[in-house]
Amino acid sequence: MIIKMKKDSTKKQYQKLAEFLKSKNLEIRDVSSEFVHIFGIIGDTSSFEPVDLYAFEGVDEVTRVSTPFKKASRSFKKEDTVIKLEHGIEIGKDQFVMMSGPCSVESYEQLRTVAKVVKQSGAHILRGGAYKPRTSPYAFQGLGEEGLQILRKVADEFELLVVTEIPSSDLLPLFEKYVDVIQVGARNMQNFELLKTLGKSTKPILLKRGLSATVEEWLMSAEYIMSGGNEEIILCERGIRTFEKYTRNTLDISSVLTVKELSHLPVIIDPSHAAGRWSMIEKLSLASLAVGADGLIVEVHHDPEHALSDGAQSLKPKKYLQMTDELKAMAKLLGKTFI
Ligand code: PEP
Ligand code: MN
Repeated sequence: MIIKMKKDSTKKQYQKLAEFLKSKNLEIRDVSSEFVHIFGIIGDTSSFEPVDLYAFEGVDEVTRVSTPFKKASRSFKKEDTVIKLEHGIEIGKDQFVMMSGPCSVESYEQLRTVAKVVKQSGAHILRGGAYKPRTSPYAFQGLGEEGLQILRKVADEFELLVVTEIPSSDLLPLFEKYVDVIQVGARNMQNFELLKTLGKSTKPILLKRGLSATVEEWLMSAEYIMSGGNEEIILCERGIRTFEKYTRNTLDISSVLTVKELSHLPVIIDPSHAAGRWSMIEKLSLASLAVGADGLIVEVHHDPEHALSDGAQSLKPKKYLQMTDELKAMAKLLGKTFI
């Protein structure tokens, strides 16, 4: 952190600030000139924000020079983190990992019909919401524990793994029992109590980017989980809120590149919640592979017109299988394995 004092700041004001910084075990390196009083502070500044220092009189400008996240940062760990799952899945290496399924688990028959298509595509991870975070309290809220049981049963039938969203900390024991990868939804990205609980989980976490979160805030949420002891995190870009109304959200495809520069964690894309329209999913998926994402999470439904949630962005089986064929061909060209 670099601190510049005001031109008319006093020695007393500086001493008060210096005392505070020293109490935090920080070292002060003066780099002042005859025109400006400026100094760098060296050490662990993670317990406060640069803006907190404006509380001290005489402070003119505070600039952070290192990232506020540590364990999630590329400077902390140079090599890419690879999340290993059953069936030889390695997220973050040279595979393009596909997670597919309906938005919501609606019934055993519905999930079974979709899972059959997911299996046929060569994917190994089945998605589906059992607890649904809906904008309206009157919309379908999910089947709850029964949904988790259906997910497990169907996934086992087809030898697939399960990824599904956890809505609150108290449900962790249930999720540990039924689920392979625990998803944190966009609306819960900054539910810090939930993140702390997941820091104690033994399961990998799929951390979605919040609706209006910066990449830094997203990585700080990863840091919450990692600082609790769970370092198995897969980031998921799912589109952010912008002024554009035609699509549900705006897919921030460059965030994959930002994450890869700032962090060692793997990152996948959810084109379904980004676009909100099935007609755009194929092209956005190919773009995700091209930009270097480690995989996709995509919504598929055999009867989207009658889906209980997100039918408009769900691919029908035929379209989904056509898309996965294209992804396989493109992955091969890029030296990646579709799995
Ligand atoms: C979902 O994956 O079903 C979902 C609700 O996603 P998000 O949290 O990204 O809106
Ligand atoms: Mn959905």
